[in-house]
Amino acid sequence: MEGCIFCKITSGQIHARKVFEDDSLIAFHDISPKAPVHVLIIPKLHIASANKLHNIDDSLAGKILKLIPKLAEMLEVNDSGYRVIINCGENGGQSVDHLHFHLLGGRALTWPPG
Ligand code: 5GP
Ligand code: ZN
Repeated sequence: MEGCIFCKITSGQIHARKVFEDDSLIAFHDISPKAPVHVLIIPKLHIASANKLHNIDDSLAGKILKLIPKLAEMLEVNDSGYRVIINCGENGGQSVDHLHFHLLGGRALTWPPG
């Protein structure tokens, strides 16, 4: 989608430090990390937010979920633990309108989030 930062990362117009890529997903380091490990998992397809998750294929949803433990192992936070977050909409603090899952780890994360 024109003007979307994450679509530009998907198309290669904007560089990102990728940790994983296949035909339908990319995972890359967040530009402004909030923890020692902070990566974003995005579908290549432009999906505006979690509100549109019902529009995606079950297979894509499954692929995203299954990528989480794989990335956690790759980034060496599987044993120490980590958190996966989707911010949705204004109150959720979503700042990029292309669906993304944050994977945070490498330090003890506080609860509840702010
Ligand atoms: P949100 O606030 O929408 O949940 O998360 C958006 C995330 O995208 C933020 O953590 C922000 O730091 C990250 N981000 C925004 N622009 C870029 C970019 O151009 N490259 C990368 N790697 N991350 C970005
Ligand atoms: Zn997009």
